[in-house]
Amino acid sequence: NVRTRFAPSPTGYLHIGGARTALFSWLYARKMGGTFILRIEDTDRERSTQASVDAILEGMAWLNLGHDEGPFYQTQRFDRYAEVIQQLLESGHAYRCYCSKEELEQMREAQMALKEKPRYDGRWRDRQDETPPEGVDPVIRFRNPQTGAVEIDDLVRGKIIISNEELDDLIIARSDGTPTYNLTVVVDDIDMQVTHVIRGDDHINNTPRQINIMRALGFDPPKFAHLPMILGSDGQRLSKRHGAVSVMQYRDDGFLPQALLNYLVRLGWSNGDQEIFSREEMIELFSLEAINRAPSAFNADKLLWLNQHYIKTLPAAELEAQLQWHLQAQDLDVSKGPALTDVINAQRERAKTLVEMVAISRYFYEEFTEFDAAAVQKQFKADTADNLLVVHDELAALTAWQGENIHAAIQAACETLGLKLGKVGPPLRVAVTGSASSPSLEITLELIGRERTLQRIQRAVS
Ligand code: GLU
Repeated sequence: NVRTRFAPSPTGYLHIGGARTALFSWLYARKMGGTFILRIEDTDRERSTQASVDAILEGMAWLNLGHDEGPFYQTQRFDRYAEVIQQLLESGHAYRCYCSKEELEQMREAQMALKEKPRYDGRWRDRQDETPPEGVDPVIRFRNPQTGAVEIDDLVRGKIIISNEELDDLIIARSDGTPTYNLTVVVDDIDMQVTHVIRGDDHINNTPRQINIMRALGFDPPKFAHLPMILGSDGQRLSKRHGAVSVMQYRDDGFLPQALLNYLVRLGWSNGDQEIFSREEMIELFSLEAINRAPSAFNADKLLWLNQHYIKTLPAAELEAQLQWHLQAQDLDVSKGPALTDVINAQRERAKTLVEMVAISRYFYEEFTEFDAAAVQKQFKADTADNLLVVHDELAALTAWQGENIHAAIQAACETLGLKLGKVGPPLRVAVTGSASSPSLEITLELIGRERTLQRIQRAVS
């Protein structure tokens, strides 16, 4: 039974890289009929915040990446970590180190002077019988094997071999007794019976250390899949400098979770040259083997293209709630406008984001205060007011306010006036929307509604 986990540290929002890691872990669990665990790695109390936990949970919920177990919080598991640290001390796999800060600093400087890589030299490894120096709270270090090598069959990167000589005895408990990241991850991955660790390749240096701790505890390591990094347009690791990297910022900017997920799945994974994947297809086609080893570059244009694709093609019912959210975010009163489905169907070809859709739909919900000056200049002529009044009266006579009838009324007005629709339509559009572009006139008028349409024509001619 496959068990994967997403284990964010709550020190910021859910960013693009984290979301991609979460997606791949979630996908693999879904694909294999396994279990997806959410674990909040909040042991760094200085940097972890509740706001960040909330932001991560919000991001996961918005992307609809539901977990089967958790969220577990590491800060609630300190007793368990203490127990394991004690166990490692007793079995001789860990020891107390009484080096002072100054001593460690001297060690570092001496190594640097010899152009060696700074590392703990293991000076307390074999001094456990000595009386410890007074006034020093010891840290606890893992007694890393000094011979042999750690072999990792990474599912993305292939075989990686790290000689134990390169690994020093890392701290598993700080002098205040709190456990460190490499210890808590190992304990959790064991206790939560994680079978596949899917995470960013920035953790690859931790992996051999974690494997050694796991073995010391008598467990076989899980399988690992280290995901290649995501680069910004300049070839550097994607970061805030490259614009929106927070998942919720994409929501605020009018992106659909469907589009973002589709975008993320292609960041480092492919299935031939297929670009569009529904959730079901992603689950069906996903495999860890097909993950690319090379870093992938973030491409904002492609994300926008996908967003437009989903706005055009998703059933309106799937877009309603999100459009409503955006309308409300813009202080528009949804009850004062047409049905959301109708707005979506009228505007979906004309908007790349939901923010754009709201921007071009405001006149369905509230009075516009200004006319587009260029449109007025171009369309309002000497005879426009008289013509519009004829249209007004035809429309006012309608018993059912509905597209076809509206179309017929406008046609009738054209006949009365002896003018082509091309003369009557454009100024009418400016009169009721304030602008030169909108969906077809009959749909626009239908959605604006009878009262509002008639009032706006009156207002335009007066
Ligand atoms: N908490 C770590 C991070 O946010 C991830 C640890 C892991 O996946 O093993 O970078």
